[in-house]
Amino acid sequence: MQRLVSFLDSTETFYDQLLKYCNVLAPLKQIHSSLTTSGFIFQNPHLGAQLIIKYAKYKEPDNARSLFNTIHNDKPNSFLWNTMIRAYATNGHCAETLELYSLMRRSGISANNFTFPFVFKVCASKSLILEGKVVHGDVIRAGFHSDLYVEAALVDMYAKCGQTDDGCKVFDKMLMRDSVSWTSMITAYEQAEKPKEALVLFQKMQQDSIMADSVTVVSVASAVGQLGDAMKAQAVHGYALCNAFLEDLCVGNSIVAMYAKCGNVKKARMVFDRMEERDGISWNSMLSGYTENGQASEALLLFDEMQDSGCKPNPVTALILVSACAYLGSRHLGRKLHEFIINSNTKIDVTLWSALMDMYAKCGDLDTAESIFNDIHPSERNVSSWNVLISGYGMHGQGEKALELFTQMQEEGVEPNHITFTSVLSACSHAGLIDEGRKCFADMTKLSMKTEVKHYACMVDMLGRAGLLYAAFDIIKQMPSSPNDSVWGALLLACKIHGDTKLGQIAANNLFQLEPEHAGYYVLMSNIYAASNKWQEVGKLRQDMKNKGLKKAAAFSVIEIGKEIHGFHTADQVNPYWEEVYKKVESLAVEMKMAGYVPDLSCVLHDVEEEDKEHTLNYHSEKLAVAFGIMKMEPEMAIRVTKNLRVCNDCHSAFKLISYIYGRKIIVRDANRFHHFKDGTCSCKDYW
Ligand code: ZN
Ligand code: ZN
Repeated sequence: MQRLVSFLDSTETFYDQLLKYCNVLAPLKQIHSSLTTSGFIFQNPHLGAQLIIKYAKYKEPDNARSLFNTIHNDKPNSFLWNTMIRAYATNGHCAETLELYSLMRRSGISANNFTFPFVFKVCASKSLILEGKVVHGDVIRAGFHSDLYVEAALVDMYAKCGQTDDGCKVFDKMLMRDSVSWTSMITAYEQAEKPKEALVLFQKMQQDSIMADSVTVVSVASAVGQLGDAMKAQAVHGYALCNAFLEDLCVGNSIVAMYAKCGNVKKARMVFDRMEERDGISWNSMLSGYTENGQASEALLLFDEMQDSGCKPNPVTALILVSACAYLGSRHLGRKLHEFIINSNTKIDVTLWSALMDMYAKCGDLDTAESIFNDIHPSERNVSSWNVLISGYGMHGQGEKALELFTQMQEEGVEPNHITFTSVLSACSHAGLIDEGRKCFADMTKLSMKTEVKHYACMVDMLGRAGLLYAAFDIIKQMPSSPNDSVWGALLLACKIHGDTKLGQIAANNLFQLEPEHAGYYVLMSNIYAASNKWQEVGKLRQDMKNKGLKKAAAFSVIEIGKEIHGFHTADQVNPYWEEVYKKVESLAVEMKMAGYVPDLSCVLHDVEEEDKEHTLNYHSEKLAVAFGIMKMEPEMAIRVTKNLRVCNDCHSAFKLISYIYGRKIIVRDANRFHHFKDGTCSCKDYW
């Protein structure tokens, strides 16, 4: 007997050792079958558990399960069940984990602090909040709600499912919190776009002397980016630097993105330049940092460096660069980029196709945008591809075509979303299609689509431009939420077009409260006063601006001639051709006057001396750019100019006249839309 026991003991040790050192799948299966045929496994369930762990490691949870099925009835213990649940959970088999958990409970085996964390893990991975809450109930009944591991898993589950309130409740009750739980909660707030809460928690974490890890720093940086707080960005950067987190690639990337989102592109670039290692995400963060901060040309320069560095651009890179070209309005660069994307075999999905369409539309090339749309297989077109085309036609003043597409889209069974309605409403607004716009707005309610602030802004814009100022004001009064700057801004602009000082004042007062730093609204309001000769009010506003140190944004226009891009500021004396251009502009003014042109002096700042006003008008950036185009381009070529602000009334009438006198096609893209000038008229029908 003694011998037999020692034999069995040694056999058990033998298998134990064998399993420990077995690092290949095939012999594992042999051990499995020999243990089963000898029946040895039934007397030594811990060997079975070890086999299950090994199978899980080799991502063979099905083999693990068949072993589990043969042995679990023999000696019911929670250890074996937990091992199997863990095997499923760590292999991401969500449904199987939950199924086994409920089987465990039905078999009367108690779950414990080794069971719950793995069940929560799978609930978190698939956002199964309902299932998670049921298991949370089980935890309380089983009395494990104060267990550190269970609590940490619960916090993580609620956090990953976006249930910050429930997560916070568990977190607040925890007696001991490890850095994982702190990080889970901070990340949850960051992901739920509650950056302030995330930062408060990070502060408390430091007060509790809990050391952050790189995941924490990434979340905190992203929260600061959401806030756009440049001061806090410096602090997070300092913290990462002092605690040697910057060597971590993910942290470095997040700091670059954070600075870019806070508008500090210089600092972003500095961190980027100092990174020892960079991946595609680093390059993309820096590229989109430039694009989102209006430095599209820098993005294109950086892209050259990226290619030199040997880092291959991916579809995200392509998307960022396409939007940079759209921003620049450069058809030449856009085409080059399009070719590059095709030649580099970048996978073009429907999102990238839509971005290309958007780029062509914004570069004034609607035909190419539409032909791309037609090339996308109808089954692959999604709602955003339709939206891009609808908004493209809207920008170019082709409201009827936009409406046609809107109908066609619905006929083809694509459901419009809130962006579609914004595009359609703004297309109606640009084309002055009031009845159609009103109908579309009413349709939203019929389709039980939620009307958002931006839809109201479109309606106010549309009615206001058409001179229905009080109808526009009524729309504002009916809004369920408080109107924002774009709503009041649309009304103010309409008051400028139609010369209404009374409503203008109401709109302006609201805007001065909402956006006290925005010089544009002060300028607009003072122009409204000036148009009705209220010089005292004009003086007051201009003094206000001076006191607050507000300056009108500098106007800038760009023209593409061949492969070259030329930029002009207002009254530019930096552009190498400025002297020639000034001469051309002056001779144009003389010819236009002979054709009956009267300069619109209301477009000039009113603190300028009267005789200088006419002079100043000549040197508006868009006039300089167009004059340069007339000088340098063949007469049959269209002159394409992009301006960062709205085109002014005087330049608008001047371009209509130039298009007539010289028989030239002029296409101007301003901050709002496109103007196609031809034979003395504009596609906007003077409605912009
Ligand atoms: Zn102008
Ligand atoms: Zn126009």
